[in-house]
Amino acid sequence: MFRIGEGYDRHRFEAGRRLVLGGVEIPHTHGLVGHSDADAVIHALCDALLGACALGDLGQFFSDTDPANAGRSSSDFLKDVMVRVRAAGFELVNADCTILTEAPRIAPHRDAMRENLAVRAGVDVDRISVKATRGEGVGPEGEGLALSARCVVLVRSVEGDE
Ligand code: MG
Repeated sequence: MFRIGEGYDRHRFEAGRRLVLGGVEIPHTHGLVGHSDADAVIHALCDALLGACALGDLGQFFSDTDPANAGRSSSDFLKDVMVRVRAAGFELVNADCTILTEAPRIAPHRDAMRENLAVRAGVDVDRISVKATRGEGVGPEGEGLALSARCVVLVRSVEGDE
């Protein structure tokens, strides 16, 4: 059996913060504001995975008021979510992530993100897609106020193998 999940996240930009996307630190004048490292790509991917397995959402497992999650690497969240996905009897078939931002340019960092996400999710890199688009100057992303990420995943029931 196959199941689809969708995830979405948006974080606000602030000058002088670290920008971490897909677990990769990207040099930029601004970073994203959040309780953890504010990695919108991983947050969207985790929510897509949890959604496909009907396990809830990321905030349920990693509260943004819990001091233990302050400044935490979202790559840890992805690792934990994959444990939950496998425990529920599913494996990741593929993930397709889209980043919406005016800046910085995503293309030079795309493959590093794919590699990191694949390692954390325990799948081959050819199963992970990262794409980017710009906001054409309108909306919070287009005006450079925020960055958002969307992700769609396909998971497959491991018990359905026979
Ligand atoms: Mg988030």
